[in-house]
Amino acid sequence: MRPGFKKAAIYAAVISAAIAAEIAILHLCFDREDEEGPQAMRWPVMGTVAQMTSRRHMDEREFGELLVCVQASYARVEKLLSAWNPESELSRLSAAGCTNWTEAASPEVRPCYEAALRLAEESGGAFNPRIGEKLRALGMGRGRYSRFDLGAIAKGFAVDMAAEEVERAMGGRYFSFLLDLGGNLRAVGAGEWRTGVRNPFRGVDASQPGICAVITLLGGESVATSGNYERFVEKDGKRLSHILDGRTGEHVSGIAGVTVVTPREYGATLADGLSTTLFVMGPEAGAAFLKRFYPLALALWIPDDPASPRIIVTPDMAYRLERIEWPAEKTR
Ligand code: AMP
Ligand code: MG
Repeated sequence: MRPGFKKAAIYAAVISAAIAAEIAILHLCFDREDEEGPQAMRWPVMGTVAQMTSRRHMDEREFGELLVCVQASYARVEKLLSAWNPESELSRLSAAGCTNWTEAASPEVRPCYEAALRLAEESGGAFNPRIGEKLRALGMGRGRYSRFDLGAIAKGFAVDMAAEEVERAMGGRYFSFLLDLGGNLRAVGAGEWRTGVRNPFRGVDASQPGICAVITLLGGESVATSGNYERFVEKDGKRLSHILDGRTGEHVSGIAGVTVVTPREYGATLADGLSTTLFVMGPEAGAAFLKRFYPLALALWIPDDPASPRIIVTPDMAYRLERIEWPAEKTR
């Protein structure tokens, strides 16, 4: 344990059964004994659960004001980018037969479309926001109102927008927050956080540990997880992943989870987009892809093999793992 920190306060583990399924990562933090402890708020939004945590206990009013900024950011993104709301800008553009999404979208969310289209191009279509139609055809799109789907990147984008708001509001003062939107986390301000990667096999085997690795997240960094254990469709008794290979439209198999850490310059948008992309690509092609396009990102794959659980990590990710329950292999 680090000097000056006596007590581990595990405060994000109390999750009701209904929302537990949506949280990819649970986070742990250390707290100074002489302070009141961290402050956290959870609320439902964008089809998942958001949490904002301040490392230091703040004045209630100030925390409340920041919370309102963060909540407003998420609400704005949801209003513009939700595929599930027929009134969202995305759904209305889709209904109007839009083809040039970046030009048609509100300036505020344009960077999200740009990042999605860039990832699609760089990944050779493995990441494919135009998959909305296919998802609907496979029965995964009931209630989906858009052909264009930003579900793999919009939450990360919302976290980046909220982080900007917090940074602006805090100005030059000390601050240390952790924003979590359904498993898309960003460390805002100073300080390290420790984040646990959920064990994807825990659901089928309760004797397994709840988390299978702990990752240190530095100030400004983001981490995102894509897993096949939270959302899936069942067909002929088989669980099929909610992530499709954007090139073939097939359900991706063989991977149980992917976790990606990105530096400040990539942000939570890319952590989110990359976790989905690397889920499709798998470790070998995924590591080569990162080397070429996103060399500062770190990644971890968990093969879908509960009989012999293991982790595959990019070489730099290996240095971030504090506790690994399983054997780890490195990618080249
Ligand atoms: P995430 O949980 O961030 O990995 O995002 C998964 C969501 O992204 C799915 O529920 C779909 O809405 C969408 N999706 C599935 N496959 C792809 C793909 N190949 N490219 C982009 N989005 C996808
Ligand atoms: Mg994603």
